[in-house]
Amino acid sequence: MIAVPMRRERIRDGVLAMAGFAVIEAAVGALWPAAGPQVVTWEAALSVVGWSAFGGIVAALPQGHRLLPLAWALILGPHLARTADAPALAVVALALGLVGVLRPRVGAALIVGSGLAAAAVGQRPETAPPIEGGAGRDVVLITVDTLRADALGALPGEGWWVFDQAISAAPWTLPAMDSLMRGLPVRRHGGGRVVEGGFTRPDARTTPLAEALQARGYATAAFVSNPHLRAELGFDEGFQRFAHSDRWVEPLFGVHTAQAWRHRLGGPLPRLRHDRDALLVDAAIRWWSAGSSAPRFLWVHLLLPHEYRRDPHPRRAPSDSPADLRAAYRGNVDACAAELTRLLAALGDGPLVFVTADHGESLGEEGRWGHGGALVDPQLRVPLRVRGLGEGRTARQVAVVDLYRAAVEGSLQPLVQGRPVVEVGATRRSPSAWGARIEGGALIPRSAPGESSGEILAPDDALKQALEAIGYVDERDRIGRGKGP
Ligand SMILES: [Zn+2]
Repeated sequence: MIAVPMRRERIRDGVLAMAGFAVIEAAVGALWPAAGPQVVTWEAALSVVGWSAFGGIVAALPQGHRLLPLAWALILGPHLARTADAPALAVVALALGLVGVLRPRVGAALIVGSGLAAAAVGQRPETAPPIEGGAGRDVVLITVDTLRADALGALPGEGWWVFDQAISAAPWTLPAMDSLMRGLPVRRHGGGRVVEGGFTRPDARTTPLAEALQARGYATAAFVSNPHLRAELGFDEGFQRFAHSDRWVEPLFGVHTAQAWRHRLGGPLPRLRHDRDALLVDAAIRWWSAGSSAPRFLWVHLLLPHEYRRDPHPRRAPSDSPADLRAAYRGNVDACAAELTRLLAALGDGPLVFVTADHGESLGEEGRWGHGGALVDPQLRVPLRVRGLGEGRTARQVAVVDLYRAAVEGSLQPLVQGRPVVEVGATRRSPSAWGARIEGGALIPRSAPGESSGEILAPDDALKQALEAIGYVDERDRIGRGKGP
């Protein structure tokens, strides 16, 4: 017969167990910082006090010493399961909670130990040891999501080469970034097309930019945000360190949960989303400042301009009026430009820097808003600035995909010489317009028949040929004919 502990002892054990959890979690987070948010001292102190109080209150209940491990398993288990993408963890947590019901002292020890588990999912390893040696100049690629060519003002510092007419390979992220990273238009790499259950991947015979540079002795790291740029779609290939903000959690479980619930109840966005670009820049600067004996390739992808409706900066939800939406877009571009400036200042004058966008954004031109649905100028024209290869300006049309060779060769020639025809294509969703961009910047727009009815019809043969010539192949058509990539 096991003696039932006194109420005071139960409370003491409950407080100590939860305090132990909070201290371990905060200590691990502070000693081994991850790419995302860092441990904030006052939040860590609040976490220890808050969880201790929780432990004391639950333990004070009748049978509280048995209840506490089970309650804790039900609170922490789902969080571990979700953030580590391992549903089995919830079952393990529940099983351990049940152990605690039978053996409360063991349960208390498990609660203390769970601090390590909570810290581990918040601090998922994203590092690899830097490679030694190699020669070459540091290369930095900064892509800003949804940044129109006319939205980016002057960049700080001297020595920028400005391209006035840079054309992205596609009007939405996945095919545009696949193209940029492979140095090829959509037709040539075949990636970023919508197929049953997902998207096509670029031809395996093509080499991602990071892999090409790593083969030349570069240490490589990426700090990115858009869900399309996740590792599962191959964007981590060639990166020794790949940090995607969607994988980040707050280092303190209590803070993570409190922010999520506050947002769910109508409060502001969690820090992980609202401050995403700032956190990405922080993480990139930390990696850069650590130095390297090898030349470095750094890729940073910022998202603020894309989020002007969902996450306006400053916080003021725009109405649906065109003026309000344009002002919100402007606000987010300005906030992003501030982060860009901070990053550029930290990089110094040494590296070869490319600043561009995956695509632009329609802000009411021809009645269109957003991106991804039409091959039109506001969505295809992007800023392109290069620092480290002299100062100047190029007014003629260039393809952003040629940035690949410029980065590998450390030369402006691939961009300046350019291609005679810039290829764009691979719209997803329902294309509301079809167009062919030809040399000289001329655009042949054409509305898809049946647009107003919401019905999607195939373009006629002549237009289809014109589109195929520039790399656009309608996905339904491709499947029908069974063509390869
Ligand atoms: Zn995008």
